[in-house]
Amino acid sequence: MSPLSQSSRIRQRIAQLVRERQTAERILLARQDLLKGTLSEVRRTCGKPGCKCTKGGKHICYQLSASVEGRTRTRNVPRKQLAKVRLLTDDYRRFRQARAAWVRLNGQIIDLINQLETARTVKSIPDEQRRKKG
Ligand SMILES: [Zn+2]
Repeated sequence: MSPLSQSSRIRQRIAQLVRERQTAERILLARQDLLKGTLSEVRRTCGKPGCKCTKGGKHICYQLSASVEGRTRTRNVPRKQLAKVRLLTDDYRRFRQARAAWVRLNGQIIDLINQLETARTVKSIPDEQRRKKG
């Protein structure tokens, strides 16, 4: 492959990765709040004698688990806050995915920029006449 078309392919690939990175940046730079953690539904018995849960109709509650300084912390989520918590934790997950994508894309872009440098770097002082023609 000629050095010129190789450079051109590398530039096209960089442009594509930059567009993907912009998509990630729109998510990273958004303004809404994020809430770290995983929301889960828990079915349990309360221990009160004669309660419906003793006959199989267990109580359903919601918990948010999140790792804080290496330890998992679990909090109860009131039902009226469930929708909001689900939204904020989904946004947090999207943020983390976008962050990982941003880091990966930057690595790929740097590799391609290095390849472009190699492809564009001439071995000797260019001949003036050939340079004008090219
Ligand atoms: Zn009960």
